Amino acid sequence: MNLLDKNKEQFSSGSVLLENEPMSKYSTWRCGGRAKLFFQPKTKNDVSIFLKSYSECDQITWLGLGSNTLFIDDVVDATIIATSPNLSEFHWSAQDTLYAECGVTCSRVAKEAAKKCWGGLEFLAGIPGVLGGALTMNAGAHGSEIWSFVSAVEVIDRKGTQFVLNSKEYSPSYRCIDGPELWFLGAWLKFNQKVSNGTEKIRSLLEKRKLTQPTGSSTCGSVFKNPDGGYAGRMIDECGLKGYRIGDAQISDIHANFIVNRGNASAYQILELIKLAREEVKRKFHIELQTEICQVGTEGSQNCEVKYP
Ligand SMILES: Cc1cc2nc3c(=O)[nH]c(=O)nc-3n(C[C@H](O)[C@H](O)[C@H](O)COP(=O)(O)OP(=O)(O)OC[C@H]3O[C@@H](n4cnc5c(N)ncnc54)[C@H](O)[C@@H]3O)c2cc1C
Repeated sequence: MNLLDKNKEQFSSGSVLLENEPMSKYSTWRCGGRAKLFFQPKTKNDVSIFLKSYSECDQITWLGLGSNTLFIDDVVDATIIATSPNLSEFHWSAQDTLYAECGVTCSRVAKEAAKKCWGGLEFLAGIPGVLGGALTMNAGAHGSEIWSFVSAVEVIDRKGTQFVLNSKEYSPSYRCIDGPELWFLGAWLKFNQKVSNGTEKIRSLLEKRKLTQPTGSSTCGSVFKNPDGGYAGRMIDECGLKGYRIGDAQISDIHANFIVNRGNASAYQILELIKLAREEVKRKFHIELQTEICQVGTEGSQNCEVKYP
């Protein structure tokens, strides 16, 4: 019996363990190669069992809804732990505090808060990811960020041990967090501002997104972080790159900081467009754009920085 079969017996029913799984199914860019091993745990305990049985040298990458993740085209030499659609329990642990597991969608968090008339996280409704991804990316919009609401996080280490940390252990910044190298199983989000119009605010933010972003297309949101005092999208537009295409990868003609997969784009074509936009912005504005998206592949995963093949 090999390691895979032995482990399969220990997991709750509903957990999924697959070899050579095509990762294009799990990224909103709809491209990328196959992962050597793909695990979709049913419960937090399944994650512990899984991690306890894997050697320290295996590279592990966690995945939410893949709305900020680019998988390279070749074999993705990593074990993927995909939290969605499971690990999606949530409850109000106190009147003003929502506990949610890492697989709860951002939009569900926004709607639950609005239902109880708590304000501030309405922006999450427009972010097509889950809580674990949002915590790692310090997701934000319209001047708000998720970590302003985190009071504590439930984490797991490489050996499968679970514990709780105060949010003070982490230093969030623009689309990044600094802190212990642990993965998120869940978080407690604490609110302090009552509002009566959360649901309408969510509706109007979603309407605005539809007008300004290619929301129905295969993208990973903003490719680059905005540099100090400027907008990456505006700069790329001013370089004349809106609509520019390499194969099926295209710089969106609605919002130049988005790259759209118009059908069969490869990760390589997307990376070439990223490289081109970066070079042109550097040439015209003398600014080095930093990527917001995470690349997963043999070049190293969980980086905020894209490394080119
Ligand atoms: C149309 C569109 C609009 C967007 N708009 C915004 C926006 O307004 N603001 C914004 O901030 N982002 C935006 N994004 C980007 C993206 O949705 C966010 O970054 C989101 O938080 C990513 O969530 P995810 O679950 O898809 O993460 P994934 O892409 O699955 O993962 C992102 C990173 O988090 C890590 N990760 C995932 N889960 C865990 C976990 N449980 N523990 C530890 N690490 C984990 C992954 O390894 C990866 O490094 C947009 C994307 C799209 C497609």
